[in-house]
Amino acid sequence: LPTPPCGLLTADAARSLVDSVDAFLFDCDGVIWKGDKLIEGVPETMELLRKMGKKLVFVTNNSRKSRRQYSKKFRSLGLEVTEEEIFTSSFAAAMFLKLNNFPPEKKVYVVGEDGILEELKLAGFECFGGPEDGKKNIKLEADFYFEHDKSVGAVVVGLDQYFNYYKMQYARICISENPGCLFIATNRDPTGHMTSAQEWPGAGTMVAAVSCSVQKEPIVVGKPSTFLMDFLLKSFSLETSRMCMVGDRLDTDILFGQSTGCKTLLVLSGCTSLPELQDASNNIYPDLYTNSVYDLVELLQK
Ligand code: PLP
Ligand code: CA
Repeated sequence: LPTPPCGLLTADAARSLVDSVDAFLFDCDGVIWKGDKLIEGVPETMELLRKMGKKLVFVTNNSRKSRRQYSKKFRSLGLEVTEEEIFTSSFAAAMFLKLNNFPPEKKVYVVGEDGILEELKLAGFECFGGPEDGKKNIKLEADFYFEHDKSVGAVVVGLDQYFNYYKMQYARICISENPGCLFIATNRDPTGHMTSAQEWPGAGTMVAAVSCSVQKEPIVVGKPSTFLMDFLLKSFSLETSRMCMVGDRLDTDILFGQSTGCKTLLVLSGCTSLPELQDASNNIYPDLYTNSVYDLVELLQK
């Protein structure tokens, strides 16, 4: 197999990487955990990097939970991470609307789960849809006319295990009939670890369904969009040239890191295998790659 045009993380490379950055941005699934299972060596890695004075930030495309819910998940896995250190695509959707002065009198229709509803409400927006609409059924009779709320000014689509035809139609009508209605996607990941044992269809599949029905592309707020980085930089005084993005997916994490000027480290503990990294048709390469974050501990102690 050809060597990818990026370097394997060696002891020297690990030392110079740590010396050249003030912060590590960690993707979550495939780096910190797989579904609900902690990846080996994560607590030791976090402890060592914090001892070295590094700021740790967590950036996940999984929209199912809010920052508060993720902080609870970290704690349940024995990791102390505050809400302020967590950036989720659900939070990104709420912050996107806030920064774009979404009118408070307008509503948001959500094709997604509780995390999106919670973040939107925390940001002061009126929203509906979500799991509730998963129970709704429609009868496709000849004279059936689907009524919708004309005050919906944005539709947010994320991972939705209750996705159905009703929601697809609600989203479609709002986007195509309400003047100026925004179409926002939390992320476009094709798959995700809904369970630790397996990968499942990701938010990208729901986004694709809605996008096809309205013949429009969404505004993506999660990785690889740089929106979350712009927002993150408002919270911390950090420079992207002194940050390292650690992720397991090339077209979200590594692309996000590269387009925001971070150093990038791909870990093979998640969805990208070494043959995939070495595939000649792949045109996204991290600066460095290694098996898992635990290697940082082993290499830095050499
Ligand atoms: N979206 C969903 C629904 C997922 O289940 C996952 C991974 O489990 C992701 C996105 C990707 O999350 P991350 O950005 O933390 O890898
Ligand atoms: Ca990941």
